[in-house]
Amino acid sequence: MRTPPRVLTVAGSDSGGGAGIQADLKTMLALGTHGMSVLTAVTAQNSLGVHGAWELPVEAVRAQFRSVVDDIGVQAVKTGMLSSPALVTTVAELLAGLRVPVVVDPVGVSKHGDALLAATALDAVRTKLLPTATVATPNLDEVAQLTGVRVRETADMPRAADAILALGPRWALIKGGHLPADPARAVPVEAVDLLTDGTDEHWLRAPRHGNRHTHGTGCTLASAIAAQLAKGDTVPRAVAAAKEYVTGALAAGFRLGAGIGPVDHGW
Ligand code: PLP
Repeated sequence: MRTPPRVLTVAGSDSGGGAGIQADLKTMLALGTHGMSVLTAVTAQNSLGVHGAWELPVEAVRAQFRSVVDDIGVQAVKTGMLSSPALVTTVAELLAGLRVPVVVDPVGVSKHGDALLAATALDAVRTKLLPTATVATPNLDEVAQLTGVRVRETADMPRAADAILALGPRWALIKGGHLPADPARAVPVEAVDLLTDGTDEHWLRAPRHGNRHTHGTGCTLASAIAAQLAKGDTVPRAVAAAKEYVTGALAAGFRLGAGIGPVDHGW
């Protein structure tokens, strides 16, 4: 009997099923791994935005983590919405005792502009969480929040990666998907990301589809990287496979509710 690789997400719940824990578990299943979850916060959320958020007590997060790790064991971890300074610090401490790859998605604000991390938690993300990361996956807004570096074009991305690497992760994946459109075209032609450990540099390019139903993209990418790492990929191979998975899921993103629909894991 085959036991699949085990992957853990430490993240928030999206009641609409498009992002957070729900996107993470779907991604892990689609990539042939066993997904497990440590819930940090519950959001009341739909295609129009986040209508309420409640974080779990630190003891509940610690107990979930210990239950999973001490019995089942994990081969890779992904972190997402961590909400508060206390939760960021607790999760960083738990991860520091683990000897497996960790993908940190330093989630700050949702596409609708809802805060998923308190401004007071940014310092703990910089000094405690990012040093535990094998790969950190900030988008350009998160790069600016965490480092002050503003990326206006792809040429700025290496400077952003250096600033993130200075905070301690082994690899930085700078996601350029939010870069402004080429003024000559209605939609940008490519989504460009930069993966680097400071020496080895990989530029990843994928066609842009102009599909507005993109809810859950960041969660899905980070979870896909963690799933591939649990299966034994190197970081560059895991990120390339994850980008391919997200590109397919994005192309198939569908309408749900009156707002922004989710990426599709059933392709
Ligand atoms: N809700 C939760 C619980 C999340 O973790 C995230 C992103 O990490 C979001 C919402 C935001 O998703 P998006 O910005 O793709 O709409």
